[in-house]
Amino acid sequence: MVQFLGTVRVTPALASFAPYRRQGSSFLLQRNGLFPFKRIIQASLQSSMFLLAYTTKLFIWWFHDLLIYFTMPFTKLLWLSMSPLLTGVFITDISSNASAQSPTEKSEIIFLGTGTSEGIPRLSCLTNPLKTCPVCSKAVEPGNKNRRLNTSILLRHPSPSGMRNILIDAGKFFYHSALRWFPEFGLRTIDAVIITHSHADAIGGLDDLRDWTNNVQPHIPIFVAPRDFEVMKKTHYYLVDTSVIIPGAAVSELQFNIINEEPFFVNELKITPLPVWHGPGYRSLGFRFGNVCYISDASEIPEETYPLLKDCEILILDALRPDRSSSTHFGLPRALEEVRKIKPKRTLFTGMMHLMDHDVVNAYLAKLKETEGLDVELSYDGLSIPVRL
Ligand SMILES: [Zn+2]
Ligand SMILES: [Zn+2]
Repeated sequence: MVQFLGTVRVTPALASFAPYRRQGSSFLLQRNGLFPFKRIIQASLQSSMFLLAYTTKLFIWWFHDLLIYFTMPFTKLLWLSMSPLLTGVFITDISSNASAQSPTEKSEIIFLGTGTSEGIPRLSCLTNPLKTCPVCSKAVEPGNKNRRLNTSILLRHPSPSGMRNILIDAGKFFYHSALRWFPEFGLRTIDAVIITHSHADAIGGLDDLRDWTNNVQPHIPIFVAPRDFEVMKKTHYYLVDTSVIIPGAAVSELQFNIINEEPFFVNELKITPLPVWHGPGYRSLGFRFGNVCYISDASEIPEETYPLLKDCEILILDALRPDRSSSTHFGLPRALEEVRKIKPKRTLFTGMMHLMDHDVVNAYLAKLKETEGLDVELSYDGLSIPVRL
């Protein structure tokens, strides 16, 4: 038996400009065959003046469509070539129009993904005839909190020109996370992307940003460490060096900003990198903004990073599995040790694998509040929390 899992349809070159075309004019003529002419004949019987007006209108529609059809590729090229000169100006305008948020609206973090690289449920668990994984079996159910995609958050904060959306990481499943949560939370623009490190579950979705830069905004600023930018030059060479792209092809328009382990600003918001080890000799960045510290991929926190975590109120921290750490990630026991050391007011764990049953682990963590006063819990995809910046 052969099962088709998907089909590929070749798109005509100019079809990508279809949304720009006026509906119901020349297209209607083709689809309805001689129908408009039949109407013309009927009309002419009633009034020769009406015939003249009708045919003139048809001609204007046809000419208008023809003009748009052939000039749109050049208009798009002109727009893209000018966009670097318009940095900030258009982003500001588009954000303010599209977000349409009240200036009094509060900052928040939306968890777009809280799971490991392969996602939860694991396919191998679902196809296992013995069905030995209760977490993956539950994760299939719609709305179940064990369903987790690649670790990523969206930071929303008000600015004089409207709400700004800062994305941290766009991994392999970014499209699916965005598909699930952007419409749900009324999100439109991506005003910046900050990269923690260059593993596939953090940068694998950069290509999907093309939908934003083609249809929502002219470009997206990316903030990335030099070592990760070097990786992107190989994994996403055509996004870094756009000279290799066939003219007219529409890929993500990204503006790369190299960050070091020093504070930097995004939309007037100060972001402080939190350098951590993500396996021996491999550096990843957490980020602090306001009272929030976000560390999604860590196996060790260097001593020099702890002062940057001082007085952290909300800590979002890597916790891969319930029993032990791996070579690249904190397990729950080690993550709890770090919480006791950093002493945030509230902690949300992220990056959980399929051994972390949401309800079971949260019940265990709730007891720590009673015994130790620790406010710790697991995050989940789609969770939104207010933050103070
Ligand atoms: Zn599983
Ligand atoms: Zn990683």
